Amino acid sequence: MIHLGCLFTSKDCAMSEMTISSKTQEETEKNAGRLSVLEALQNRGVKGLDRVLAVRVNGELRDLSSLLNGETAVEPVYAESEEGLEILRHSASHVMAMAVKELFPGVKVTIGPAIENGFYYDFDYERPFREEDLPKIEEKMREIVKADYPFIRKEMTYREAVEFFRSENEPYKVEIIEDLGADRVSLYTQGSFTDLCRGPHVPSSGKIKAFQLTKVAGAYWRGDERRPMLSRIYGVAFQDQKALKEHLKRLEEAKKRDHVRLGTQLDLFSTHEEIGAGMVVWHPKGGILRHVLEEFEIREHLKRGYGIVKGPQILKTELWKRSGHFENYRENMYFTEIDQQSYGIKPMNCLSHMMIYNSALRSYRDLPKRYFELGLVHRHERSGVLHGLLRLREFTQDDAHILCTPEQLDQEIKGVLDFVRDVMAIFGFEYDLEVSTRPQKSIGSDEDWERATKALIKAMEDNRLPYQINEGDGAFYGPKIDVKLKDALGRKWQCATIQCDFTLPERFNLSYIDRDGQKHRPAMIHRVILGALERFIGILIEHYAGAFPTWLAPVQAILLTVTDRNIPHGETLLRNLQEAEIRVESDFRNEKLSLKVREAQLQKIPYMLILGDRECQDEGLTPRLRSGKNLPFMKEKEFIQHIHEEIRQRR
Ligand SMILES: [Zn+2]
Ligand SMILES: [Zn+2]
Repeated sequence: MIHLGCLFTSKDCAMSEMTISSKTQEETEKNAGRLSVLEALQNRGVKGLDRVLAVRVNGELRDLSSLLNGETAVEPVYAESEEGLEILRHSASHVMAMAVKELFPGVKVTIGPAIENGFYYDFDYERPFREEDLPKIEEKMREIVKADYPFIRKEMTYREAVEFFRSENEPYKVEIIEDLGADRVSLYTQGSFTDLCRGPHVPSSGKIKAFQLTKVAGAYWRGDERRPMLSRIYGVAFQDQKALKEHLKRLEEAKKRDHVRLGTQLDLFSTHEEIGAGMVVWHPKGGILRHVLEEFEIREHLKRGYGIVKGPQILKTELWKRSGHFENYRENMYFTEIDQQSYGIKPMNCLSHMMIYNSALRSYRDLPKRYFELGLVHRHERSGVLHGLLRLREFTQDDAHILCTPEQLDQEIKGVLDFVRDVMAIFGFEYDLEVSTRPQKSIGSDEDWERATKALIKAMEDNRLPYQINEGDGAFYGPKIDVKLKDALGRKWQCATIQCDFTLPERFNLSYIDRDGQKHRPAMIHRVILGALERFIGILIEHYAGAFPTWLAPVQAILLTVTDRNIPHGETLLRNLQEAEIRVESDFRNEKLSLKVREAQLQKIPYMLILGDRECQDEGLTPRLRSGKNLPFMKEKEFIQHIHEEIRQRR
C-alpha cells in the first residue's frame, strides 16, 4: 500500500527533514485500515490499471495514492482521456522543472501548467534558455522518468509553506502562496523536486511515456511588462509514442501551412517593423483576395435584407462614455484630440449604427433594421500576443447590428445562425457552438442579462443545435454565441459571434412605436460572420494550404508558352481572358515548360494553360490543374464557360 507518511522520509526529499517527523506517527495511526483509491480499484478488478493515472471520487479528481473515507463512487481516469492527458501533461511540467533545477543551479521556478497538447514551465535564470538547451533537459527528464519517482502529496499550513519555499530560495512560489491567502496548501514532491500544487498528479514519473520539448520563449511574470522577463520552455506529451508521433506529424503539416510563410511565398501581404506591430500591408494578390471576400460579404448581406452603412473612424470620447466602452474597454482603445476635444478611435462599430437608428422615428412596421459595415477597428493588444494575421491591432470586422422587437429576437438569431451555416459550408468548415455568459466586468441589469442569455439558448434549443456553455466569457454588454471553426487539420478557430444586448438600446434611448401607439425599447444583436477579415484570411490560407479554390484564388489561370512561336496566340488569349474578368497572368519567357509549370505550381495557381503549336493552330488551350492532372484540349470559349461556372458555384 502506498502510504503518505513513510514516503516523505525518503532521503532525497528536501522538505522531509523540515516538517514531516512529528506528524508521521500520528497520521499513520489515523489512516490505519483506510483503503487507497488504487487498492479500491484493484479490489473492483478494474481493467487496464497501468493506464489509470488518477480517479474521480464524487466528481472530484484525486491522486491514486489518496485514501478513501468510505466513498464508493470511484471512477478511474485513464491516460488517454482528456482529464488523464491534462494530469499527464501537468506532471510532465513538474518533471521538466526538476530536470532544469538539477542542470542549472540557481534557477528559480514559477508556474508550469498543462496546455493544449502539452505543457510549459516559466523559469527565472541568469540567461534565457535556448533551443540548444532542450536536448540536455530532455535527456535529464528521461532519467527522471526511468527512475520512476513517486509523486508524493503533502499538505502544509500557509506559514510552513512560505518558510519552506523561502529556505529553498524560491521567491516566486512565496509570492504565489501569499497571494493565495489559503490556510493550507498542498505540495508535491518527486525525487529532489517539490512544487506547490493543487494536483492531482500521476502516481510516479514513470507514467510519462511520450514527450518532447518543442520551443523556448520569453514571458513576463504574470504577463506583466513591469515584472521580470522569464524563460518559458514548451513541451508536448501524450499517452504513448504513437499519439506523440501523430501529433508531431500534424505540427509538421501545420508548419507547411503557416500563413505567414505562405503569405510571403504567395506575395499576399507583409508586415514592417517601420510601420508598427500588429499592422498589415496588403500586396496586389492579397488585395484582390480581400476584395473578393468583401464583395462576397456585401452580396450575401444584401440577399438577407441588410443595409450597407459606414461610420467614422473616430468618435467623441463623450459618446464612448455613454456606451460604457470608456469604463469597460478603455485599455484596448486609442485616443486623440481635436480642437481640445477628446476623441476615441473606434474599437467596435456599434455606436454609429445606433445613431443611424436614432436618426428617425421608428415604428414596429420598420423593424427589424439590419445594418452591415465592413468596419475597420483598432484595438490595443499586448505586443506579446500579436501573431501574423491572427492577432492584429488594426483589422476589419464584417460587423452588423440588428435592431428588432423583443418578439422578433428568436427569428433574428435563427437568421444569423442560418447565415453562419450557409457561409461556413462554402468554405468547407465544420464548427462547434458555445454560449458565453456574463463576465465579471459588465454593464446592465441582472434581468437584462438573463433575458438575453435565455434568448440565445432558446434559439439553439429550438433549432436543435448542440452547444456548450462558457461561463463568464461574454462581452461586457451581453452574452454571446461563439462559433468555433474546425479547419482541415482539425484545429479550432473562433470566428463568428452573435451577441444579444438589451443594455446599449437603453443607454442610447432607442425606441419604436408599437401597435399600442406607445414607445418601446428594441432588442439589439451584434454579430460578425467571418469575424476579422484579416484573421479569416489567415485561417483560410492555413485551411487550404495556400491552394485557394478558383473563386478566391488571386491568380486563377496562367498562360504558359512552349516556344516563342506561341506568344502572339498567348497575347490574344491574355486579352480575351482579362476581358472575361478572369484573373490571369502570363509566363512567355524563353524557358523550359517544365520550369514554368513548377513555378506556377509553387504559386498554387488553379489553372496552367499550356500553349503549344497545336493550341495555336486550333485556337484553343490545354489546361493543366495544379494537382498535375491535365484536362483535354478545349476552345477558348469552353474554358471561359468552365471557369465562370466554377466561380459562380464558389468552388
Ligand atoms: Zn502540479
Ligand atoms: Zn456591436
